[in-house]
This record gives sequence, structure tokens and C-alpha cells, in this order.
Amino acid sequence: MQSRSNGLAEGRRPPSLRRLGLVSAIVLATMAILAAIALVWTTSSMSRSVEMIVADTRGVYTARQLNLSLLTYQRVSNLYIVTEDEDLEQTRSELASEMQEVLAQADATARLPNERELLDEVSTRLSTFLRQRERLEAQETSLEEIVHLVRPAFERVNESLGALHDLYETQVTHTSTDALREAKVSTIVGVSAAAVLVLGLLALGLVIHHYALRPMLELNKAIIRFQGGDTSVRAGEEGLREVTELATAFNEMAEAMARQRDDQLTFLAGIAHDLRNPLSGLKLGLHALARAPAEPQRSRTRVRLDRQVDRLARLVEDLLYATRIEAGKFELRIERFDARDVVRDMVELYAPTCPHHEVVAELPETPVVLEGDPLRIEQVVSNLLSNGIKYSPSGGPVRVTVQRKEEHVVIAVSDCGIGIAPSDLSKIFLPFRRNHPGTVPGAGLGLSVVRRIVQAHGGHVEVESKPGVGATFRVWLPRTREQLEQERSRWSPRVGTPDLPPAPAT
Ligand code: ADP
Repeated sequence: MQSRSNGLAEGRRPPSLRRLGLVSAIVLATMAILAAIALVWTTSSMSRSVEMIVADTRGVYTARQLNLSLLTYQRVSNLYIVTEDEDLEQTRSELASEMQEVLAQADATARLPNERELLDEVSTRLSTFLRQRERLEAQETSLEEIVHLVRPAFERVNESLGALHDLYETQVTHTSTDALREAKVSTIVGVSAAAVLVLGLLALGLVIHHYALRPMLELNKAIIRFQGGDTSVRAGEEGLREVTELATAFNEMAEAMARQRDDQLTFLAGIAHDLRNPLSGLKLGLHALARAPAEPQRSRTRVRLDRQVDRLARLVEDLLYATRIEAGKFELRIERFDARDVVRDMVELYAPTCPHHEVVAELPETPVVLEGDPLRIEQVVSNLLSNGIKYSPSGGPVRVTVQRKEEHVVIAVSDCGIGIAPSDLSKIFLPFRRNHPGTVPGAGLGLSVVRRIVQAHGGHVEVESKPGVGATFRVWLPRTREQLEQERSRWSPRVGTPDLPPAPAT
């Protein structure tokens, strides 16, 4: 799986899981609240309509009831005039007060002004009718005449009751129509709210699937493939910020591990190469020794063999040292020595091995005393010298100088080789960093070992170079024990103990 670049990773910052959750929660909650408000509004308006229908239906019933009571009152009164039965008198007076009571109740619960007007009209007309009838009966008017005389008043009460009945009936019809419309609205609101909520959840699910689940599954797949040995696998850096960060972290880790693996392979190749040369030198030397006819030749060959063995030993030492240094542990065996001896030995060691180069030492007349580990300083000079030779493939001078500078001794190794690009100067002291992998043999450890040894001596190393012109490495070492102690307390390596302090940038 290739690392896929995407718009989110390149430009805009992808949204975070927390933000998506927050926004979705707010949107869904707003939708739910709006739907609930709409539903509450429509249902309460419906229940109001139902209450009104009930009240108006009761009004219709009341109007009918009054109409019936009025008819009954008229009949019972007529019968009473004929029979003069006291029970009938009782019944009709009960009917009269019942009608007035019902009217008073209806008036108390009336909602509309025209309803109240009509109720007042019915009440007035009923009272007029009752009073007229009472008056005529008291004058002992005949039944036919009474019926004839009260008919207009009776008709007026009936007329008002009819109007009241019609009013209530019309209201029932209107309110029912309204209630039906509200029920429809409520159904539409409810169904729409449910649909919007379902769609919202669906959209949220799709967003989560697209931006979180899918990238996570891909990342998981990439991790499984990586665990299975496919170290080239990379996860797609897309989706929500947390997932992208996870994928980026995985990719960086995979990249670092791949680089580490490449470094290790280069390291092994470099070691193999560096071991092969002295070994073949040894083999040739042994052959020459066997064939050498006389003692002077034999002893020269023995010296050469001895040097090759030294070189091998130094290489192994370098490796051992590099591993100790990388593990943060190495020791110094401090003693007084002449820096010139170290440089001279190294020049003598290298000069015969490279006929195309002119390896020379420029040394002061008098001893240059240093306090430190001579073997380690020898390793420093050896590494710088071998680099000077290695990185000037067309030959030329490789010069080693020793100078006293106030409180320091400066050992400089310069060559006229390929040089180093300014952008690479800061990287070459890091372990396994090589500017010309493949073209020149090496493990990329020499300069990192140099830097650590020099720092442990309380000194520092610097480089000056122009590509195509050459390079000069200068090692600054404190001259006296006091200075060494001072520098050492800054870096705190303990002489003869295995701890090395963390190295500063050179
Ligand atoms: P190695 O030589 O094994 O690669 P070093 O740590 O000694 O490892 O050097 C690191 C890198 O610094 C080299 O790969 C090379 O690119 C660069 N370098 C070191 N010395 C020189 C030099 N004298 N001239 C040019 N480049 C150099």
C-alpha cells in the first residue's frame, strides 16, 4: 500500500474526532429539540381544539335541551290550566328554574362574544315569555287566549335557541376542520422529524465510516502487513485528525525502521569491506614471507604483516568502541604522552599503504604533551587520516599538523579531495550518516567515534570544507590536566569508568 497524499494532509487540517462528535451532537440535539417543540406545539393545539369541540358539542346539547324544556314547560302549563293539578305546577316551576340555571351556567363558560350575546338574548326572551304567561294566568285568561297571546314570545325564545344551536354547530364544524388540519401538520412534522433524524444519523454514520473507521481499518491492515514482514507498507494519511496523526506516527516509525535496517545493512557491508582489505594484505604478506629468500626481506614483510594486524585490530577496536559509545559506555586510560608520537605513528602506518597519496606530518620541534588516552587519540588521527585518503580518490597530499594554541593542542588533518557540501557539514558526525554511500567504502561510524572520543577528552572537533577542493578536520584538545579536569567536569566523563555523558552538537 503506497502512502496516499490527500487534500486534507496537504492543505487544510483534517477535523478532529472530538470536533466531529461535538458538531454532530449539537446538530442532532438541535434537530431533536426543534422536532420536539413542533410536536408539543401541534399536540397542545390539537388538545385545545378537542376541548373546544367538547365545549361546543355540549353547547349544541344545551340548546336542544333548552328547546325541549321550553316545549315541555308550555305543555305542562297548558295541562295545569286544564287540570289544576298541583304536581304539574311543581314540575313547571322546576322546569323554569332549571332552564334559567342552565342558561346561567352556559353564560359562565361562554368563550365567544356573540355566544354570550345570544345567551343573554335567550335569557331575556325566556324571562319575557315566562312573565307574560304568569301575568295572563293570573288574569284568568282562557287557555286558547293564553296560547295565542304568548305564541310570539315563545317563538322568539325558540328563534334565539335555534340561533344558539346553529352557532355551536358551526363552531364544532370549524374547530373539527382546524383539528384535522393540525393533526395532518402534526403527522407531517413527526414523520419529517423522524426522517431527518434517521438521515442525520445515517450521514453521521457515513462520515464516521469514511473519516474514522475506514482509515482505522486500513491502518490496522498496514500494521498487520508490517508485522508480517512487508516493511514497505505505509498507511494512508487521511481521515480525522487523530487517525491521521496515528497513521503519520506509524509511517514515521516504519520509515525509521526501514532506514535503520538500511543503515545496518550499509554498516555490515562497510565492515565487510573494511575487513577484507587488511585480510587480503595479510594473506599476500604470508605468501611473501614463505617465499622470501633472505632475512632483511623477511623482516620487512613481518613489519608489514604486523601493521596489517594492527590495522585489523584497530578496526575491530573501532567497532567495539562504536557499539560501546552507542550504548553510552566507554573508558579512557589517561596518561601523559607526546601528541607528535601518535601522529608520526599513524602517518608511518598509512603512508606505505597508499602510493597515490602523499601522507605527510608537520610537527613542532619540541614535544607536545597531552594528557589523555593515547590509544583513543591514535584512533581519532587514524580515522581522520583514513578518511582523508578515502575521500581524495585522485590522490594528492594528506597533511597532518600538530600545533599548540594557548590552552589547546590542535591536530589538523587536511586533504585535497572531494570535499563536503555545506548542507552536509552538520550531519557527518552523526552515526551511520554517509554522504557518498555506495561509492566509497565505509560504515559511517568513523567521525561519530572521533567526536565522542574528543568530547570525552574535553575537546571539540570542527571541519572546514569546500566541495571539490578538499576538507580540513581540526581536533581541539585541552593541554593540561587542570584544563582536562575543567572540561571533564563540564561533560562529566569519569576517567577509567564506563559512563559517557550525552554529547553536545559539534
Ligand atoms: P565513513 O567514512 O565510513 O562513511 P565517517 O563517519 O568517517 O564514515 O564519515 C561520514 C561521512 O563524512 C562520509 O561518508 C563522507 O561522506 C564524509 N567525510 C568524512 N571525511 C571526509 C573527507 N575527508 N572528505 C570528504 N568527505 C568526508
